[in-house]
Amino acid sequence: MWFVIILVYLILVIMLTYLGGQRKIGGYTSFFLALFLTPFIAIPVILLSAKNTRIIRQQKQYKCHRCKLRYTEKLEYCPSCMKDGYKIKLKPLIMDFI
Ligand SMILES: [Zn+2]
Repeated sequence: MWFVIILVYLILVIMLTYLGGQRKIGGYTSFFLALFLTPFIAIPVILLSAKNTRIIRQQKQYKCHRCKLRYTEKLEYCPSCMKDGYKIKLKPLIMDFI
């Protein structure tokens, strides 16, 4: 009977370690919380911890291959090169910001 209780306890600890690894609290802290302070204390602490989220914003930029300047607004030709007398088409770039 004790064997079953210990097994269930360890399965809960492993599950909470995995769950905590996906949150700000982290896997190690979750593991020790669940193991030494019981999963019943660890569950609310882990669930109250914020989730790890990576926000990826995509921003389109336009690059001039002559002067290497980048623009965020869509322009047909590079204004900087237009001043120098060149008509250079801007190429779109897709940048990922985390
Ligand atoms: Zn240019």
